[in-house]
Amino acid sequence: MNESPTSRATIPNPIDVNGVRYRWPERPVVVVCNDGGDPEYLDAALAAGLVPHTARFLRGGFSAVAQCVIPSFTCPNNVSIVTGSPPSVHGISGNFYLEPETGRAVVMTGPELMRAPTILAAFSRRGAKVASITAKDKLRQQLGKDLDIAGGAINFSSEKADRASTEENGIADVLGLVGRPLPDMYSPELSLFVLAAGVRLLETQRPLIMYLSLTDFVQHTYEPGTPEANRYYHDMDALLGRLDALGAVVGVVSDHGMRAKTNRDGSLNVVWLQDALDRAFGPGSTTVICPITDYFVAHHGALGSFVRVYCRGAAPDTVMRLARSLPGIEAVHDKASAARLFDLPPDREGDVVVISDAATCIGTTPAAHDLKALAGQRLRTHGGLAESRVPFILNRPLNAAYAARAARGDLRNFHIFDFAINGVAA
Ligand SMILES: [Zn+2]
Repeated sequence: MNESPTSRATIPNPIDVNGVRYRWPERPVVVVCNDGGDPEYLDAALAAGLVPHTARFLRGGFSAVAQCVIPSFTCPNNVSIVTGSPPSVHGISGNFYLEPETGRAVVMTGPELMRAPTILAAFSRRGAKVASITAKDKLRQQLGKDLDIAGGAINFSSEKADRASTEENGIADVLGLVGRPLPDMYSPELSLFVLAAGVRLLETQRPLIMYLSLTDFVQHTYEPGTPEANRYYHDMDALLGRLDALGAVVGVVSDHGMRAKTNRDGSLNVVWLQDALDRAFGPGSTTVICPITDYFVAHHGALGSFVRVYCRGAAPDTVMRLARSLPGIEAVHDKASAARLFDLPPDREGDVVVISDAATCIGTTPAAHDLKALAGQRLRTHGGLAESRVPFILNRPLNAAYAARAARGDLRNFHIFDFAINGVAA
């Protein structure tokens, strides 16, 4: 990974990353991760005729519903997409986890926790111009791990676009390039800025590989088909159309879907799992970790549909029995079966995994969640099996080999770089 860029008269050799061989693309490849883009949003926008470019990709390119990584959270899925591999390979199994050495609950956004190289870094280290742009700055370091910034790679977030520097991010004056003001953290513009920056980079520097990772503010906040959601999809579509018009292969996936976790009256439908376990086994006998936790809690109050339980006094099988008896719980697994079923790293797994159903989320105890941050909104969140269906779209048709592979099924969101680089018709 330390070879220096070389000048090339011919197409360079393919690159092997985590068991997949990527050919050297002939034209720019742009992968967009529409964070939280449940298929229902796109279906509603298509039905309303608001996304003409995406509609054209569906007609003339390739479209399917793929599965994301479980837990259906942002960090594991983004890292899966840029490594082309499941969490058992790259090691990132949540946004937040219990550090085994210290027993402390910490964020899982450090690049040092990644155990696999990214496709982006591999191309960058071989001399390709690579750009990775994220909405939330928390993802920037993992997605940009080992990019050759000094050699021309670009890696910044729209959240901190005003602070981008040539030394750290490979680019300065991002606001000037994009021609938009710094977007608010809780706004559709945080994501649209990422796409607009991708368009401007393609126009001015034409990176060979780009990864544009958005944020799920809109999907956490608005239901599919609402005016706000439809406007966002319309605005995204216009920018996807620009990327297409500039000649790029464009792939669009999502890291996870999204579901309302409310009762009929709109009130929060939550299982307070730590409270239930404390009542049954006594305080201190278990620790429930909500791996959705990040500092953007106003989206979801740190409530998701997948939690990990670490057993101290209580035996895992008795914890599992109790969890299965609770209403709204869809699946309960021990460490080994969760790791096997969902392709997760066993050494970063809890003793017990608890997953709630489509209409239910899981928290620890009310005092530990900032429910005021939800500000009376109907909670929409993710993490479980009900949020695992995601769009998988390419603006160009597949070649015969990849069409056959897609027809066999088992399409995962982290196959998108493979399909966009190796799978489109010449
Ligand atoms: Zn997400």
